[in-house]
Parts: sequence; C-alpha cells; structure tokens
Amino acid sequence: NLSDRLERSFKILKGEGKITEINVAETLKDVRRALLDADVNYKVAKTFTDTVKKKALGQNVLTAVKPGQMMVKIVHDELASLMGGEAAELHLEQKPAIILMSGLQGSGKTTFSGKLANMLKTKQHRNPLLVACDVYRPAAIDQLKVVGSQIDVPVYTEPENKNVNEIALHAIQEAKAKGYDTVIIDTAGRLAVDEQMMDEIASLKETVKPDETLFVVDSMTGQDAVNTAKEFNDRLDFDGVVLTKLDGDTRGGAALSIRTVVTKPIKFIGTGEKMEAIDVFHPDRMADRILGMGDVVSLVERAQEQFDEEEARKLQKKIQKNKFDFNDFLNQIEQIKKMGNLKELASMIPGVGKAIKDIDIDDNAFNGIEAIIRSMTPQERTHPEVLNVSRRQRIAKGSGTSIQEVNRLIKQFDQTRKMMKMVTGSQMKSMMANMAR
Ligand code: GDP
Ligand code: MG
Repeated sequence: NLSDRLERSFKILKGEGKITEINVAETLKDVRRALLDADVNYKVAKTFTDTVKKKALGQNVLTAVKPGQMMVKIVHDELASLMGGEAAELHLEQKPAIILMSGLQGSGKTTFSGKLANMLKTKQHRNPLLVACDVYRPAAIDQLKVVGSQIDVPVYTEPENKNVNEIALHAIQEAKAKGYDTVIIDTAGRLAVDEQMMDEIASLKETVKPDETLFVVDSMTGQDAVNTAKEFNDRLDFDGVVLTKLDGDTRGGAALSIRTVVTKPIKFIGTGEKMEAIDVFHPDRMADRILGMGDVVSLVERAQEQFDEEEARKLQKKIQKNKFDFNDFLNQIEQIKKMGNLKELASMIPGVGKAIKDIDIDDNAFNGIEAIIRSMTPQERTHPEVLNVSRRQRIAKGSGTSIQEVNRLIKQFDQTRKMMKMVTGSQMKSMMANMAR
C-alpha cells in the first residue's frame, strides 16, 4: 500500500545529513510510483512530485529530525494543500436550503442522503426532508424510505409521477408549508455516464436552483472516479464532492486526483454503510491517511517550530569539544519546555510511545533543575569542576532544594556530558526527559 511504499522509500534517506538532489530524485521516483499505484492520476502525480522536489531541495535539515522525516513532512503538507488546505463547509442559505445529489448508480447517493440528513438533524438541529427523485426503480424509492425511517426523517415521494422536476418542486412547496428547512434530493444514476441521465440532472439543477450540488463518487473506482468527476463537473458545475466507501481497503488517491482535476472541494467522506459513517473531509487528515505517518508529521512540525537550528548546530560543536556546560543544559531545558507536553512529545518518537505510556513526566519536572542551575554563578555554570561542598550548600539554599538534589543533578550532568559525545540530537532529548524523572 501507499504508506508502506513511502515509508520504504523514505528509509533511503535515513542517516543522510541533508536533502540533496540525488536522494530526493531517488525518493521521488518511489513516491510517484506509489501515488500511481494508489490511483492518483498520472499528470497529478507528476506535478505533485515536481512541486515536492522544488520544496525539498535546499531545505536545511533540522538536527532534531532526520531528512526522511523532513521529506514526509514536505510530502504531507503538499498533499494537504493540494486537497484544499482547510475543510470546506456546506453553504446553506435559501429557505428551505436545497441540496442536490448527483453521481453514478451505486456510488452511494441514497445512503449519503440519509447520512447527511441525519448529520444536519443531530449536529446542526436542522429539520430535513428527503426527496425521492430516483423514479425508475420502485426499489429505489423503498430504499430511501427505509433510510428515512432509520433516522426518523420524512421522505417525500410521488410513486406515479415520472417527472423529477415536478416532484422536486412539489417537495419544496411541501417543505415550505410544513416548516422543513433543508430539502435533500436523491436522484437516479446509471452505471455509466449517459446523455439522458446528464440531461435529467442538469435540468433538475436548473429547476430547483440548489444551494449545494454534490457529486457522490465511490472511492474504490480509482481512475474512473476522476473521469466521472470531470464529466459531471463539465455538465453540472457541482459545488462539492462526496467520497464514499473510504472504509475498508480503499485508496486515498482518488481524493487527490479528483481535487486536482476538477478543482472542487471534497466536502464529505463516507466510511461505512451505517447512517453514522459520515465525516467532514479534512485535507490534512487525508494526507495523514495517505501517508499513514501522522505522528511523525506532528513531531517534525513541532520540532520545526520550536527548535532553533542555529542553536542546535552550536550545541553539537560544543558537545564534540566537550565544552557543554550548565548554561547549555539550561538552554536545552528551555527548548524542550517550549516544545510542549513532554510525555506527548516523547510518545511521538517511534518506539518510545509504548515504553513511556505509564511513566509520569510532567511539565514541572524541570523546575527543581532549573532553580539549581539559576542559583549557580556564571563561573560555576561554565566550570562545574569548581563546585565544592560549600558552594553546593549555598546553591541548595538559594534554590530551595536540598544538598542531595544538588549532588544528584551535578552527578547526572557529568554522566550526561560524557554520554552526549556519543549520541544524536533526538537521543539527547530523550536523555533530558529521563533526567527530569
Ligand atoms: P446509489 O445507487 O448512488 O444511491 O448508492 P447506494 O446509496 O444505494 O449505495 C450503494 C451500495 O454502497 C449500498 O450497498 C450501500 O450500503 C453501500 N455504501 C454506500 N456508502 C458506503 C460507504 O461509505 N461505505 C461502504 N462500505 N458502503 C457504502
Ligand atoms: Mg440510490
């Protein structure tokens, strides 16, 4: 699957110091292949990898993260922004508001009509009316009635009438008369795009002038989904896309392709057959899903925000020269504190999460340590070897701690300094977290 492939390709980058032309090219070849496998349209995949390449090259790699993780972040952000950046909302203004469903047969229109009605009713306290405009198969009307009864939303039907424009207009009158504020029109679909269906839905749209025309598409249909979306959009100029059947073994690639090819927002996703299986579409979550690496992404994000690159480089040098002192130590603590909840942060480091699940690390953990260091003179901080017993006693008093605590910190500092020469930036962070316990 896509995330496995990406993970594998990112492994190539592991251990490299910076993102270079060569390792990007290697990785992006795999990224492109993986996107194609996930049913992303060829042109979309090409444009995507070109953009990622531009963004990745010349990026300085933070000491706190590996180039591979950095690439994941770049790919993630680009995926999210291509899919719309922010979640798109329904714009329901008319009274009653009118929502028209379109899409092929089996895409999930009837099911989604019910899900949306249920969501609007329970979450937004709207009062919806479902309308059966799939008039060619008696079973279709019955299906909508079953859906309606499950969620306790009325269904407007005219079983004898085959003119869907009339039915829809009558339904809107009924809604006005009875105080329904949202009219959701379920329509017929064919197995493939045909003129008669397109004429019917286009004329229906013309007649009812919906607030929202939604195009419902089965995400499992892959490449076909993109072509169908384009044909419907050319004819209907719809307002948003509903991606169904994203539960199970589905490929998120359709989201990216459709969004890029028709430039209409994906508004909802369907994740199952039940009425509750509906979600607002969040581009960043879908990018997470496509990558399957959400935790790494947020770790990198936070490290990027808070970890000063310049500082990190200086620190590395000092450690190599064994000049790491209490001022640097204090500095590190500040950096770590800025990065937020320690436990949460540590749990995002692959492999660490489970290990620290039951351990208490809280944000006050460093308070004692900080107080001790702040009670040292500048000379003591840079030359810890001068810390004799009387100095230690003075520091304990000044910091409101005990001589044992001061001794313990100095001992740990010595050990840390020795070990630091042998470890990387991220390992150092977990060592610091260790000290806080
Ligand atoms: P329509 O022909 O466009 O009205 O499609 P339906 O609403 O009748 O759905 C076709 C089939 O897909 C039905 O068996 C639904 O239960 C199923 N279905 C719809 N949405 C989803 C979904 O999000 N996940 C899954 N697993 N099945 C879905
Ligand atoms: Mg249907």
